[in-house]
Amino acid sequence: MQSLWNDSDAAKFPGDLGQRVYTSRLLGCDRALVLHGGGNTSVKVREKNIFGEEEEILYVKGSGGDLGNIEASGFAPLRLKYVLRLAELEQLSDTRMAAELRCALTNPAAPNPSVESILHAILPYKFVDHTHADAFIAVCNTVNGAERVKEVYGDSVVHIPYVMPGFELSKFCARAFAEQRTPRTIGMILMHHGVFSFGETAREAYERMIELVTHAEEYLAKHDAWNVNNQSRARQQAGEQPLPNGRGSEIAALRKEVSDAAGFPVVFSVHDDAQALIFARRKDVKDIALQGPATPDHVMRTKRLPLVGRDVKSYCADYKNYFSENTRGRALKMLDTAPRIILDKELGLCAIGRTARDAAIVEEIYRHTIEIILRGTALGGYRALPASDLFEIEYWELEQAKLSHIKPKPFDGEVALVTGAASGIGKACAEALLARGAAVTGLDLKAQEKSTKRPDQLELVCDITDEAAVERALESTARKYGGLDMLILNAGIFPPGARIETLKLEDWQKIMRVNLDANFSLMRAAYPLLKLSPRGGRVVVIGSKNVPAPGPGVAAYSASKAALTQLARVAALEWGAVNIRVNVIHPNMVFDTAIWTTEVLAQRAAHYGMSVEQYRTNNILRTEVHSADVAALAAEMCSPLFAKTTGAQVPIDGGNDRVI
Ligand code: ZN
Repeated sequence: MQSLWNDSDAAKFPGDLGQRVYTSRLLGCDRALVLHGGGNTSVKVREKNIFGEEEEILYVKGSGGDLGNIEASGFAPLRLKYVLRLAELEQLSDTRMAAELRCALTNPAAPNPSVESILHAILPYKFVDHTHADAFIAVCNTVNGAERVKEVYGDSVVHIPYVMPGFELSKFCARAFAEQRTPRTIGMILMHHGVFSFGETAREAYERMIELVTHAEEYLAKHDAWNVNNQSRARQQAGEQPLPNGRGSEIAALRKEVSDAAGFPVVFSVHDDAQALIFARRKDVKDIALQGPATPDHVMRTKRLPLVGRDVKSYCADYKNYFSENTRGRALKMLDTAPRIILDKELGLCAIGRTARDAAIVEEIYRHTIEIILRGTALGGYRALPASDLFEIEYWELEQAKLSHIKPKPFDGEVALVTGAASGIGKACAEALLARGAAVTGLDLKAQEKSTKRPDQLELVCDITDEAAVERALESTARKYGGLDMLILNAGIFPPGARIETLKLEDWQKIMRVNLDANFSLMRAAYPLLKLSPRGGRVVVIGSKNVPAPGPGVAAYSASKAALTQLARVAALEWGAVNIRVNVIHPNMVFDTAIWTTEVLAQRAAHYGMSVEQYRTNNILRTEVHSADVAALAAEMCSPLFAKTTGAQVPIDGGNDRVI
């Protein structure tokens, strides 16, 4: 592992806390060292308090923060003396420890200090770094892990067997450090957990971490257990082919089964790349994958074990057994029993989460886990902690407290597809659904202006009149998110005005093709996915005021939207039996869309002898309708508020006497 230390970058971070921020980021940006909130760092400094007295302050990473982009404010300042007194207590529950650590803060607005704060406090070094480095975990999670770790590190580190994180671990480490410390000690290793390094400068502690991890990497390389994941070579050898198309319904059915088991809809992402397929298709996959996670904290994300194959029911039954075997009479509340990882010979790796972001984290953690398992296997056998230890982390009071603070959004775990999503009402619909927690596929003829890298957003360039392109978009949605729950039919064209006697057949047909035929094809293609929606499918059609109140000069547009409305009404009749709701919105005069340029607006206002302002609010309520208003209504039509409504047509036009 290469040190990323750079003198000129480091100089941009003055002071002890600045240096602490700098090397914390160096550690945090390497996924082979820490993943998603893992690891923590600290620095001890002297500061004057409000009385002008000097105090020793331990700045330690806030719980759950990410080292990769940490700021000074991400560290919790603790009065070191107080924390060291806590370390001397004989006993302290972890909940009380967390509360006492908050009492030791010098800033009440600081984040919760890491649960490993006491451990940082007792190590007599200015800078302390802690990671869950993959290479170290790969060496220690093996059949003779403790012996291998001794061979790698000798007395350069203090050796700690597995002890559950929290107060007990801190006490244990304090004793072991006093007993084992030598002049050569540069770190401390915790079996099945991670590595500590320390030093008098940020650079010293950081470089020692790199050195300790490098020793593990070299050990793996020496034992031919380093290059286990050479994908292109492996794919050539194994002749693995990715999943053929046309598997959307199969994926959606499995997602539904997992969602039903979980008791909430889940995002279910399918990965059929070489790493995933080769691992899922190994003959010994059950032996090596059903040992347990790489580090115990992963259990909160991935659960203890993946499901190998597709038998969700027996996975849930096994989870219930694991729960009852390990509760040992305690009044614990069982978490949901559904898997978070599925390894399937055909699908590859399926990562499951309450949101798209959660599923992406699960996937990343498991890819690291695969590497660690393969390296451990190459060393003679991967071994995780026993189930009883992992259970204690999964049901640890501090972890349960964290879970109880999560506030779910209404569409968490659900998947929407919006057409015409690059601008106007479609873009606003995508934003409204994302804000409510949904994962959203946006289709548009044009690529979106700024390509976001959000895990919950899939933007596809797609001509909805091209049936094959629509099929591909649905397939991509099913693979990325597991299915489809909400379909917002927004894309449409609004042609220049033409009276019937001058309207060309080809113009009429073009409008029908986009506004009617394409939506028909999309509804038909989406049906197999919508009917597998865990909470029931929802379709929202963006109609037009022209349906109830047509105007002259827009025959084709009005007829297309009227036919689309009738199609939606029949769909409501036909699809209600499989719990798909279909409703229609009739907006009018939504000016913040592409067709209403400043010039067009001025022209139309002048045509009616109005000011632009009068024209914008030319309705009964004298209010302007914005695309965000239409989007909010579309989103609510997918929510439980409209759970008992189908086949409805709701105007959003500020009130129009011809519609009323
Ligand atoms: Zn740790």
